[in-house]
Order: sequence, then C-alpha cells, then structure tokens
Amino acid sequence: MADQTPPQLWQTTTPVEFSPKLNDNTQVQALLISTRQGAGFEVAAGQVSHAIGSRATQVLLDFTAAGCAMRYLIDGQWEQLPPLDRETGDGMLFALKQLCLLNPADRRSAQSGSVDIKLKKAKFELRLQSQGVPTGERVLLRLESNEVPFSTLGDLGMRDKMVSAFKARLNDEADIVLITAPKSEGLTTTWNVSINAADRLVRDFQSFEDEARPEPDIINITPNFYGGSTGLSADEAVRKAILKEPDVFLFPELVDPETFQRAALQIDKAEKKIITRVVAGGAVEGLVRLIAKYPDQRKSIADKVSGVLGQRLVRRLCDNCKLGFQPPPQLLQQLGIPPGRVAMLYQPFVPPPIEQQVDENGRPAPITPCHNCQGRGYFGRIGIFELLSPGPQLRDALTKTQDLGRLNAIAKSEGFHGVQTEAVLTVARGLTSLDELKRAFAKKQ
Ligand SMILES: [Zn+2]
Repeated sequence: MADQTPPQLWQTTTPVEFSPKLNDNTQVQALLISTRQGAGFEVAAGQVSHAIGSRATQVLLDFTAAGCAMRYLIDGQWEQLPPLDRETGDGMLFALKQLCLLNPADRRSAQSGSVDIKLKKAKFELRLQSQGVPTGERVLLRLESNEVPFSTLGDLGMRDKMVSAFKARLNDEADIVLITAPKSEGLTTTWNVSINAADRLVRDFQSFEDEARPEPDIINITPNFYGGSTGLSADEAVRKAILKEPDVFLFPELVDPETFQRAALQIDKAEKKIITRVVAGGAVEGLVRLIAKYPDQRKSIADKVSGVLGQRLVRRLCDNCKLGFQPPPQLLQQLGIPPGRVAMLYQPFVPPPIEQQVDENGRPAPITPCHNCQGRGYFGRIGIFELLSPGPQLRDALTKTQDLGRLNAIAKSEGFHGVQTEAVLTVARGLTSLDELKRAFAKKQ
C-alpha cells in the first residue's frame, strides 16, 4: 500500500554534517553516536540543510501545545513554513541542543550554544538560542557562512562612479574613513568588501580586534588582538603596532577614547589613516555617533573625516522573472527622472490567484513558480549606498551641533546625495522595484 503523505521538507534535502565544538575527537565521536541514536537527528540534519538551501539566515521555532511553528528569515523577510508536529519538532530540538553542547532536557531556561556544520563543501556555524515562554519554548537558529563573501563593491550594488569615488577615499592618506549601516543590514559584509577593495598591497594595514570578536581573515591585513588571553589593552596593542609604522589603522569596533586618540595623533604626525565602522541609519548619523563617542576630539574628527559610507539593504529583483513596464511620464516626474532617460522600470512577477491560473479552455493550469526565486519575485539583497565627503560648512557645523536634520540639510547643500536619491537610481537600473523601496524605507524612517 502506497503511503500518500507527501515528504516533509527535512526529508527532501541532503542532510548537513555536524561538528560539535569539543577539543577531543573521541568526545566528538561519542557525542555524534549518541545524538544519531535519537529520533530527531535526521530531522535536524535535514531541516538545517533545507533552511540553508532556501538561503535562510535565521530559523525561528515556536513550540506550543499545538506543534512546532517554523519561520525562515530570507533576504531580511520572515516566511512561514508548514509546522512540524510536536513530536518531530521536539526530537529535532533535542538533537540540536545536544550538538550545541546544551542541556536538551531543559525547556525553560535561556540557553545558547553553537555547532559547526558542513553542507557539501560549504561550512557554516549554527548558533542556537532557546528560552522558555508562557506558551512553551521559543528557539532561534542563526546560520552564518564561514566564507567571507569577497565580492566587489559593484556586486554589492554600488554604482561605478561611486566605487571610484569611495576607493579614492579609501586610498587617501592622513584622514579618517567611516563605514556605517543600520543594525543587521550588512555592515560586516560591506566592511570586508571595502577593506578588500582598498590598496592593501602597497600599504601596511593593521587591524585591532577584540580577541573575543575576531574578524575574518583578509589577505595582507595583520590582526592585532587585545583583551582575553592576550593580556593587552586596545591601547597597548596600538602602541606596539605604532612601532612598526603601519600606514592604516583599522578599527572594526570603536575603541576607547584614549586608544582612538593615540591612533589619531599618527594622522597628524605621520600621515597615517584610520578606517572604522559604526552602526547608524545613515552617513551623517554615523559621523555624529563617531563624534559622540569621542567628544574631546570633535574638532579633529570633523576636520579629518574624508568619507563616510552609508547603506540600506533592499531585495534584488529576480533576473529570471522580473517584469518590465513602460513607466508613465508622471511617475518618472515624481521620481525626478528626466524624460527619455529610462525606458523601462521593473516589478516582481506575482502569479494571479490560483482560480485564474487556467488555460485557454478555462481548465486549471497552475503556473510553475520561478525556479530561481521559488516565486518570491526577489533573489538576494543589494545595498543602496550614500557617500558623504564633508565640505567646509558641514565640518564647521559638526563642531557645533548634533541635529541630524540640520546637518543633513548642510550636507545636501554641499552636494551630498542621500540614500533616497541613490535609491531611485537603483530602480532606474532595474535592480529593485518601487514597491520594495517603499517597504524598505517605511520600516525605519
Ligand atoms: Zn524569479
């Protein structure tokens, strides 16, 4: 008798391999053997693989009396999946907690742990956070690729002219460059790709990193660790590095004021450069935050910052199924695009309701979803960038006010194109849709 139940998602993929984070290989093998004996191991290996295959970066599991609800975060958007029954979900969670070296029997306390995973040749880290809630338990799985996406600034969505302008800022001497992005909007990726685009071969780059939060390796960048087992403060790490006369000081996170000042002095004394980064909603806000962290150096920072990169992430239209349309003249006018400049704009393909998916004889003819984006209409995300090169009036204003509205107005009067202006260009280039811009910009303004 044939079983009519369709396979569950976890049964449809190549399972991942788990490598628990234990130093002793015998212990690793013992843990894998005992986990495999549980009913949930296969579910865990299959479900995690399915999530990665769907390009999910997070999986949210809600365990209630009714079952295990499941959502994937794909391109910054949550998508609901079919729930697992409670027994299957419990088994999967039990296995995942074991593999993350947590207590699988504890369903109430807040727990967090991680495990390395491999899918074919790609390596990832899975971080699990669980917490009992009144209705049951909530679990978040974060999936992070171990490979640094060494794409180019162009691949990230930056237009050619801005790439040249930004590279010039990265390669100038005796100044400060700041890279910003809103929280969870790709700051680390943009940082890595930017540093990779800088001229690392002819200049000596030294990076200063908290031992607890090391950065991915970049060729020709020397990491200097502080904290933890190094026994060094950030300041001591910088002092040691200065003896080697590096050209560029990289601060992936803002260090204490004394350390920053020590590096900044090298800008005046020896034409050195600082590149640092901060979470912020835009370039001007980033600059204000940098100054707020080092108020004693307000004037010096305002004088020395040569470029600030801001960015927002939007979903990229699927190249395979996006639909072109001739924009009506009044729409172009609204967007500030001169007539004749853009022949086509694009929108995502949205299939009609299922009852309208019929052939010429009115018989049901369901449309096969796009194989590339699985019918989402979007595939991946791109950055919309703004590059601020402060002029004399903005430098002066930065020493007097922190009012973002005023500072932005001054920046614009000096020729700064904010991310909204850049966003329209991204639509005109056919990379994203107006609907997506509305959604992305409504979220945080
Ligand atoms: Zn598509």
